[in-house]
Amino acid sequence: MKLQMVDVVGQYQKIKPEIDAAIHKILDSGQFILGKEVGEFECQIAGYLGVKYAVGCASGTDALQVAMMALNIGPGDEVITTPFTFVATAETIALLGAKPVYVDIDPKTFNIDPSLIESAITPQTKAIIPVHLYGQAADMDPIMAVARKHDLKVIEDSAQGMGATYKGKKVCTFGDISCISYFPSKNLGAFGDAGMVVTNDAALAEKMRMIIVHGSKVRYYHEILGVNSRLDTLQAVILSVKLKYLDQWNAARRKAAATYNDMLKGTPVTVPYVSPNGEHIFHQYTIRAPRRNELAEHLKQKGIPHAIYYPIPLHLQQAFAVPGTGKGAFPITEQATDEVLSLPMHTELTDEQIVYITDAIKEFYH
Ligand SMILES: *Cc1c(COP(=O)(O)O)cnc(C)c1O
Repeated sequence: MKLQMVDVVGQYQKIKPEIDAAIHKILDSGQFILGKEVGEFECQIAGYLGVKYAVGCASGTDALQVAMMALNIGPGDEVITTPFTFVATAETIALLGAKPVYVDIDPKTFNIDPSLIESAITPQTKAIIPVHLYGQAADMDPIMAVARKHDLKVIEDSAQGMGATYKGKKVCTFGDISCISYFPSKNLGAFGDAGMVVTNDAALAEKMRMIIVHGSKVRYYHEILGVNSRLDTLQAVILSVKLKYLDQWNAARRKAAATYNDMLKGTPVTVPYVSPNGEHIFHQYTIRAPRRNELAEHLKQKGIPHAIYYPIPLHLQQAFAVPGTGKGAFPITEQATDEVLSLPMHTELTDEQIVYITDAIKEFYH
């Protein structure tokens, strides 16, 4: 059986005529950089999420950097985030000269534990970056409460959360700024790198719109320090076609997750916890597995793709070695890195494939 972690080609085949027509229109127009379609797509996303402003940029990583630049985060500042995330969340903090300060996670959701945030706040703390890991919203109410109490900014890293909800509202509507990645494997994926920042704050939106084009409002007049980080017109039209299917695709992922849950009943693995606070969009279907590395090897033998997101927590990454945060500093995160295993999850996954995958897991634990 041919299995893939993510099936971007299979998904494209289903909407090929629409995508191809959109691409050819741009090829014929020659408007590759900031064409009017970028603005149209920004409006569609703002409408979808329920935010006032959306500004496209070149990647989710850039979105984080642009957001922090807009909030004047730099040398001497501290930013609180989770050590259990993709490197970009902390890398951009460090690139701007600020210090990532980690807070351990909730063992059920894998998201930052809000009850641990307050004790990590210092006079240098400027912002908190919760991550909606695997497609499940971080617990935003207590995060926003502690942020407001200490006058901190909140940036949602929603690279994995496109379409997820928290208490009836979409993620990306809680923080001061939220960051989206349209990396091909994300729930709403482009055909290359792409990203976006969204906000309800007009001044921040205007500033971010300047930052992404070298800090200028008028070409060749540079008012603030910026970068070159634009959303390609081609990616904007592709994403615009795909956005129409996003809810349907997220529902397909939820259905696949439910099938996995059923099939894994009675095995020693822990299936993903779904918080009653909102809708999980299963960017990843991630189990906790006893003897995880041996199980991974068994799946490999059977030709079943799988991944470990993430094998090394950020506080133990060589690039981020910070005195005082060595092994043992964040035990819940460290345990998660030893136990998690993500199984194939995408919109084209069939029940037969899920049965094949879960049969291999049952065989391993038999
Ligand atoms: C993918 C991802 C990013 C970075 O997005 P890119 O578009 O790949 O730069 C940032 N944070 C998290 C949590 C991610 O999963």
